[in-house]
Amino acid sequence: MPDAGQRARGKVRLKRYAQKRDFGKTAEPGPGGETGQSGKTRARRPAAARTRQLIFVVQKHAARRLHWDFRLEWNGTLRSWAVPKGPSLDPADKRLAVEVEDHPISYAKFAGDIPKGQYGGGHVDIWDNGTWEPVGDFAKQLAKGHLEFLLRGRKLNGRWHLVRTRMQGKQPQWLLMKSNDDAARTGADADVIDAGQSARIRELVRLVEGSDVGELTVEDGPLRITVRKQDERPPAPIFMPTAGGPAPVNGETHEPEVSSSIRLESPMVGTFYRSPSPAQPAFVAEGDRVEVGQTLCILEAMKLFNEYKSDHAGIIRRILVENAQPVEYGQPLFELEPV
Ligand code: MN
Repeated sequence: MPDAGQRARGKVRLKRYAQKRDFGKTAEPGPGGETGQSGKTRARRPAAARTRQLIFVVQKHAARRLHWDFRLEWNGTLRSWAVPKGPSLDPADKRLAVEVEDHPISYAKFAGDIPKGQYGGGHVDIWDNGTWEPVGDFAKQLAKGHLEFLLRGRKLNGRWHLVRTRMQGKQPQWLLMKSNDDAARTGADADVIDAGQSARIRELVRLVEGSDVGELTVEDGPLRITVRKQDERPPAPIFMPTAGGPAPVNGETHEPEVSSSIRLESPMVGTFYRSPSPAQPAFVAEGDRVEVGQTLCILEAMKLFNEYKSDHAGIIRRILVENAQPVEYGQPLFELEPV
């Protein structure tokens, strides 16, 4: 626990943090944080609290440029580094970590949106957190610019190094590296960031949001995605005109006995609907004559309703799919005799 001297130093070290922010506009904690406790309050705290372990947090910060903020509690503040590529579990990876201003301890619990136009404007998520402990004399290591420590987090564990480089920059440039131990990984397993997965999740969220399917829950680490339909019955098609609609695919004639007929096949995986809604009559029935461009059915995929239009004039000899049934790509839907 910080003593009075450490708290005083903490206040000085949080000056830059306070100067950069307007606490009337951002929901981030003020510089007082949890470091502003009086000695009295501290003395009454149970022994367990006084010997509690140092905490660390990694916040994923979607500011103008996405980065991961790596923070270690030390002497009453959070020492902080911005890691543009995020940490890697592969000891061969050296991740640039730009030293930034100390943050108050209470910042470790902060997640949310920093308003646009404010310092660091953008979304902040708690990406990992836990406890840490120095390996060796941390004060000496800070002065020397080579830190060694153990992390016990949800994603980051084992021994790590932060090494200050001689690279020139406005702020000191460090490298964050994993030590070679049981928690180290190589190849795809080392990619705790998994940018590819994030992109796939964003795409999934976009699709579900656009489709009005229902609720979507995405939880991070361990990843869990739940899509719950509001209504488990087959969706009632809604008539939504589309520009042109899917181009019907001409099939080959598989039945020699109707040598003059052609098969119109599904251009997509989806659900086949014979009418614009259950209350309305079917677009076409067997024996009907149809013209080029006439709608024959609706094909639905991800709640997008596509009109299927005939590219032939002719007579519908057979309808090959039942209403509201799933269809595969290339599955014959109609048998049509051209005229
Ligand atoms: Mn940041």
